[in-house]
Amino acid sequence: MIFLKTDDEIELLRQSNLLVGRTLAEVAKMIKPGVTTRQLDKVAEEFIRDNGAIPTFKGFPNPFGDPFPGTLCTSVNEQVVHGIPNDIPLKDGDIVSVDCGTFMNGFCGDSAYTFCVGEVAPETVALLKATKEALYKGIENAVHGKRLGDIGYAVQTYCEARSYGVVREFVGHGIGKEMHEDPAVPNYGRRGSGTLLKKGMCLAIEPMITLGDRKIVMEPDKWTIRTRDRKCAAHFEHTVAVRAGKADILSSFDFIEQVLGDKAI
Ligand code: MG
Ligand code: MG
Repeated sequence: MIFLKTDDEIELLRQSNLLVGRTLAEVAKMIKPGVTTRQLDKVAEEFIRDNGAIPTFKGFPNPFGDPFPGTLCTSVNEQVVHGIPNDIPLKDGDIVSVDCGTFMNGFCGDSAYTFCVGEVAPETVALLKATKEALYKGIENAVHGKRLGDIGYAVQTYCEARSYGVVREFVGHGIGKEMHEDPAVPNYGRRGSGTLLKKGMCLAIEPMITLGDRKIVMEPDKWTIRTRDRKCAAHFEHTVAVRAGKADILSSFDFIEQVLGDKAI
C-alpha cells in the first residue's frame, strides 16, 4: 500500500533527510587513506544520536533474520551495497559508497553518496559521475502524472548508453514512517509503465551502477553485495517527494560537497 504524505509530513521527512546529509558530511571530513569504515560508522552514529535521532540501519534484519550491525552501510570498490563497517583501512584509489538512514520525529531519512579515497582511476571517477547524474535523470521523472517506469527508464537508458551495468536485484523504495514502503522503485523499466505517480508520494531513488557486468553475488556475511566480476560499483541515493511539475529533493548532497570542495563528484 502506498501512503501519500501531507505537506506537514513531507517537512518532517525533510528534517530527517537533512540530518542524513549532515551526517554524510561528517563522514566526508574523515575520508582519506588509512581511515577505517568502523571509524566512519562510530562518528556517524554519535552525530545522529547527538541530534536526537536514531540510526535506522542498526539492527535492521536481513531476510535471514540477522540484524545489521552498523549505522552506515559502507561498500568498498566492488561492493555494491550493504557492506558492513570493519577495521580494514581505506587505501589510496579506493571508492566507498556510504549509505545512511535516520529516524527522527517519526519519519525516516535515507541517502547515499560514493566517495573517492585519494586519487582514483579516471574510469572509476567517470562511473561515479554517471551514477550521480543518472540519479538526477530519475528524479526529473518523479513528478505527478508520470509513471514509476519513467524513473527506471531514465536511469537505465542513461547508464546503459555509457556501457555501465544497472543492478536489478536491489531497488529504491517508498519511504515515510517506515524505511521501506511501497512502491519498489527499480532502476530499469519501460517508459509510461507501472504505478501512476501522485503528489505526496515519497520515494528513495538509488541507482546502483557497475563498471562491468551488472551481475551481483552476496558475500558469506549474508549482507555485503558485490559485483560478480569484482569491477567497481557506485551508489547514489536521494529521498524525494513527488510534486506537480518538479520533484522536491528532501535529502541533500550540499553539506557533503561543501566539505569535498573541488573533489565533489
Ligand atoms: Mg539508503
Ligand atoms: Mg534506500
